[in-house]
Amino acid sequence: MKILKFDLIIVGGGVAGLWTLNRAVQSGYNAILLEKDTLGGGQTIRSQGIIHGGTKYALNGVLTQASNTIKEMPQRWRDCLEGKGEIDLTDVNILSDAHYMWSKGSLGSKMTTFFATKAFRGRVEEVKKEKRPTVFQNKAFKGSLYRLNELVLDVPSVVDALRKPVEDRIYQYDFTQAEIEQNGEQISAINLQDNNLKLIPGKLLLTSGEGFEKIASQLKIEQPEMQRRPLHMVMVKHNHNLPTFAHCIGTGSKPVATITTHPCSDGKQIWYLGGDVAETGVDRSNEEQIAYAQKAISDLLPWIDLSTAEWRCLRVDRAEPKQSTLVRPDSAFAQQVGNCIVSWPTKLALSPDLADQALEFCQHNAENSSEPSELSELGKPATTQPVWETSFA
Ligand SMILES: Cc1cc2nc3c(=O)[nH]c(=O)nc-3n(C[C@H](O)[C@H](O)[C@H](O)COP(=O)(O)OP(=O)(O)OC[C@H]3O[C@@H](n4cnc5c(N)ncnc54)[C@H](O)[C@@H]3O)c2cc1C
Repeated sequence: MKILKFDLIIVGGGVAGLWTLNRAVQSGYNAILLEKDTLGGGQTIRSQGIIHGGTKYALNGVLTQASNTIKEMPQRWRDCLEGKGEIDLTDVNILSDAHYMWSKGSLGSKMTTFFATKAFRGRVEEVKKEKRPTVFQNKAFKGSLYRLNELVLDVPSVVDALRKPVEDRIYQYDFTQAEIEQNGEQISAINLQDNNLKLIPGKLLLTSGEGFEKIASQLKIEQPEMQRRPLHMVMVKHNHNLPTFAHCIGTGSKPVATITTHPCSDGKQIWYLGGDVAETGVDRSNEEQIAYAQKAISDLLPWIDLSTAEWRCLRVDRAEPKQSTLVRPDSAFAQQVGNCIVSWPTKLALSPDLADQALEFCQHNAENSSEPSELSELGKPATTQPVWETSFA
């Protein structure tokens, strides 16, 4: 068997693994990434691409101390998009420079007062009528509209930009196929028998999303545990040119619906619907979910004619650490178990925070100097297709 030693072996090529691989290489670590399927093909490509600053989580009127981590994320991403941040994301397509928050009537006075506080200065501002996005320019719109300092990104282009600088370190392999040599919690070797390769990891970083469940039983990791949060998302393909990026706020502390807009290769746009529609829709059949979403949209945006639109549903689980505070994740999760780092960003936006935390656990070792190209027989994973392309095909 060929023995290869690396400072860091990352399992899972979603946004978290790709971001951390870039940062690890920049920091001088000899790192590689193994992906079983396609890059970005898990939760990453199903995300709405919003770079949250935490405002959504403050809707109940409590801005926690911890939300400071998420508050920094929009600026960290903006720096990268402008070519002056930790990773060059200048090739990423920005779908919207801001995300909006709207309510059908006026926002409650408590909320308006709250948004006016110092904590929200620079993060939330009310939008004057003439500056509203086209979709809210209609006379029938009677509500209030706020602009959040949060970007919306085209996720396929994020995956591409993160892949390019580290392409030579990414290989296709399903980690659960490996035979593991363990000394207690310490992973001493990962044997890829079919390929006659023995990988020796300094650290093993698991950014495998829901794939963690299988890997946890393979490595006999009992803690931390993972939980799934199921969602039933809805996609609407229509003939309008109405880019919409907004949370619709009702009376509760969660958005009734979160709408983002994504370009399709045939020149049309899709509206991707999340928020309460998706969270409460888990027990509805596809037909029931579409009927529910149609009613919700005609209630929220009655002036938009969607009579010729095509509707599709998408079931997806969020994979997150099992912990009680999950309702409002405002920092990434990374925990060391032996030389293994178990992690979930919990939000695409929090990938920079996950990389910070994961790299804290890493150490340089001059012995870990194997060439990534020694893995070349494993082949390369493709980059995933957007779900709105595959669902309407
Ligand atoms: C519907 C939806 C909307 C969302 N919207 C937003 C949003 O607008 N903004 C935001 O910040 N966050 C959002 N999120 C959350 C965000 O998508 C996730 O937090 C983030 O994408 C997780 O990235 P990840 O890299 O950890 O996991 P994933 O993207 O799931 O990647 C895990 C990867 O690991 C690979 N893998 C698994 N097992 C193995 C194995 N055995 N061997 C090798 N590879 C393996 C998988 O194939 C996959 O590619 C959303 C999530 C969902 C579900």
